[in-house]
Amino acid sequence: MADLETFRAETRAWLEANCPPEMRQPLEDAEDRCWGGRKWTFKNEAQRLWLERMAARGWTVPEWPVEYGGGGLSREQAKVLRQEMQRIGARSPLDSFGIWMLGPALLKYGTEEQKKRFLPEIARGEIRWCQGYSEPGAGSDLASLQCRAEDKGDHWLVTGQKIWTSYADQADWMFCLVRTDPAAPKHLGISFVLFDMQTPGVTTKPILLISGKSPFCETFLDSVRVEKENLVGELNRGWDVAKYLLQHERTMIGAMGEVGAYRPLGQIAANAIGHEGGMLADPLLRADIARFEVDAMAFRLAMERAGDMLKAKTGNPADASMLKYYGTELNKRRYELIMAAGGADALEWESERSRKGDDARTWLRTKANSIEGGTSEVQLNIIAKRILDLPGA
Ligand SMILES: Cc1cc2nc3c(=O)[nH]c(=O)nc-3n(C[C@H](O)[C@H](O)[C@H](O)COP(=O)(O)OP(=O)(O)OC[C@H]3O[C@@H](n4cnc5c(N)ncnc54)[C@H](O)[C@@H]3O)c2cc1C
Repeated sequence: MADLETFRAETRAWLEANCPPEMRQPLEDAEDRCWGGRKWTFKNEAQRLWLERMAARGWTVPEWPVEYGGGGLSREQAKVLRQEMQRIGARSPLDSFGIWMLGPALLKYGTEEQKKRFLPEIARGEIRWCQGYSEPGAGSDLASLQCRAEDKGDHWLVTGQKIWTSYADQADWMFCLVRTDPAAPKHLGISFVLFDMQTPGVTTKPILLISGKSPFCETFLDSVRVEKENLVGELNRGWDVAKYLLQHERTMIGAMGEVGAYRPLGQIAANAIGHEGGMLADPLLRADIARFEVDAMAFRLAMERAGDMLKAKTGNPADASMLKYYGTELNKRRYELIMAAGGADALEWESERSRKGDDARTWLRTKANSIEGGTSEVQLNIIAKRILDLPGA
């Protein structure tokens, strides 16, 4: 315990000295997030410095082992680091599919060479990943995927189409599910492979969303060469890796419901409609925001508890579905409240005053939260079956 308090004091001092003031401000828009990768342009010097300093300490991935670019912290130390970052309002130095999804899968299923090759680059934000799971005929029923990998001895040639591939046009590499045995039952003929998006035969085509942005793409694969050394896990057992990765993805998406990094709702609403006698002017909105804040606080504690249980190996793998479901509902509620507080002004789409309609666009974007990473209906099915033990249809 005394050790943990020493760690807290040292962490606090280090953060005070090293977190640039600009990185202690709440996120204002999507560009405030740092995604890293070869194509990344830092928004400002503070964003670059913050990533560099945190990565040098291994604190972009505090709990990963030091030899793979992590901080080697215990869960308790990582919690202290998170608390101390929250205390000064520090932003995450790096958002990354590599950290949230591929990294944990590589730590469990990767070979030593794969870990040494990819994990430190992910930790330093030098390589950006996209996820090639969904296909036009395989979304909720992901195991029906058809993307074919033809065995050519020391490599495969991969041909097919992926869809809804977030940031495929920005990514450096893809982790991808391919069919390596078309004759086997559908879950047993899938493999999990990695390839560089610069490989000949890879093309991406952005898809326009309701928000007016194009954060994801159709991805076409035409005889793309994939080296055998880039198979993760066993041949034809990629479904195990895919499911494990999905648990991490769902927990990460659910974490959107943790509101620490954003401007407090009460403050946003007070700026929009003012207050009377120190209280938000609209009593109904005030009550809705209070209810939201209580639920968000309870959710944060549920996330902490789920993390502790995972570490102690007492959690249920399906807990990720619960966190995904509730966290995405919370995030949608948060943006409904922001829109309610903003009234007609919140619908502005292009003006400078509205930062080019950032709130309205983000509100529309949240509609996808309950689809991406597996829909809410599918999560509820999983919860019913694996947690509540209800009889199947
Ligand atoms: C913003 C966003 C980003 C995404 N990013 C990626 C990415 O980077 N990589 C990637 O591979 N994919 C990505 N996806 C795709 C996502 O994983 C799929 O959209 C999702 O799994 C649903 O598949 P589908 O769109 O084919 O819908 P479908 O599976 O066709 O579902 C259609 C409707 O039927 C319902 N339904 C289906 N099956 C059942 C069932 N058994 N019980 C009850 N209801 C059911 C669904 O809930 C849904 O309402 C992204 C999606 C979005 C919206």
